[in-house]
Amino acid sequence: MSDTKRLRVGIMGGTFDPIHIGHLILAECAYEQFQLDTVQFLPSGNPPHKTDRTNGASDEERLEMVVLAIRDNPHFSLDAEEMRRGGFTYTCDTLVALRQQHPDTEYYFIIGADSLLSFDTWRKPEVISQNCVLLAAVRDQLSVSAMEPKMEEFRERYGAKIYLLQTPNIDISSTDLRFRRQEGRSLRYYVPDAVLNYIEQKDIYNDIVI
Ligand code: ATP
Ligand code: MG
Repeated sequence: MSDTKRLRVGIMGGTFDPIHIGHLILAECAYEQFQLDTVQFLPSGNPPHKTDRTNGASDEERLEMVVLAIRDNPHFSLDAEEMRRGGFTYTCDTLVALRQQHPDTEYYFIIGADSLLSFDTWRKPEVISQNCVLLAAVRDQLSVSAMEPKMEEFRERYGAKIYLLQTPNIDISSTDLRFRRQEGRSLRYYVPDAVLNYIEQKDIYNDIVI
């Protein structure tokens, strides 16, 4: 390997409440399609757009579920920095800090179509765009042709480098999984076995919300 090779690192950010196979498939597809060296899972500390987390897992539990979900994949790792930081956490700040620490690394931030559509409401989208490549995957049956104009808009407005990630539409969300569990339905195969065992053992997502 030459000295000049830049490390290509994927970032899979999320609340992971809980982590599910949608997140894992996205990360693996990004690794494969963009020749990434590794994908770091970045659980958000306190995301400003998710202030109501009734019946959610604790920060420690979300973190532990990520650890359990990725531990058998050698090119996945955990970055717990946003959780350590406390207060509201913003992707732009995290990326700037990462680039300062690792100026020779190329970052690839992985998002689903819902995140793509709301990208211009994120804090400092132009700073995010300067500090990473964005990889966007289909979600919620949203067609690629609906995503493309948005991608083009953000390229023009923010100079974003943004590419489509080829994935199947994976109709799973953490919100749905929390409801399933409240209703006493199985999460088997939606989350890795180790995560399922942990949820059952710790009795997470069982509170009745009225
Ligand atoms: P919640 O329902 O609590 O919002 P979520 O399933 O959307 O949970 P997040 O932690 O919010 O999971 O998602 C982190 C990132 O992963 C976001 O960019 C989101 O778009 C993406 N993502 C999550 N699930 C999927 C999925 N099934 N298909 C494509 N992208 C997904
Ligand atoms: Mg979400």
